[in-house]
Amino acid sequence: MKDSNCIFCKIANGEIPSKTLYEDDQFRVILDLGPATKGHALILPKEHYANLYELPDDTAAAAMKLAKKMATQMSRKLGADGLNLVQNNGEAAGQTVMHFHLHLIPRYVNDGQHILWNPGESTPEELEAIKNQIVE
Ligand code: 5GP
Ligand code: ZN
Repeated sequence: MKDSNCIFCKIANGEIPSKTLYEDDQFRVILDLGPATKGHALILPKEHYANLYELPDDTAAAAMKLAKKMATQMSRKLGADGLNLVQNNGEAAGQTVMHFHLHLIPRYVNDGQHILWNPGESTPEELEAIKNQIVE
């Protein structure tokens, strides 16, 4: 299914041009318009799924396989020192385009980006309670 109001549906299906790094039946991989670093790319499924929760299992598996292939190629060709895979779900998590996408963000020593979090603190009791909340 495509969503006629969704910009990533239009990009993924070629209705809006993009700098495409890779394309197959299921996905298009494009350069991000507002790159965090040189080579920041997005894996877009051609079908419209708003987020990870909606993504079919086989599409999720294929997206991760493609992420591995693209990450390997991009890191080698760009001479990156590392790479972050980022995937935001919901406004609270920073998602701004409500069509599932996987960020591939090549990293370079001293690139000035801050993609990682500040570690918090937790007691063993708090961790136990959270574990129980999730798995029970
Ligand atoms: P989110 O915050 O939803 O995880 O990421 C959305 C990403 O899409 C942002 O990094 C933003 O720069 C990128 N983006 C938004 N609109 C466009 C567009 O029209 N073309 C491209 N190539 N990237 C876009
Ligand atoms: Zn869409």
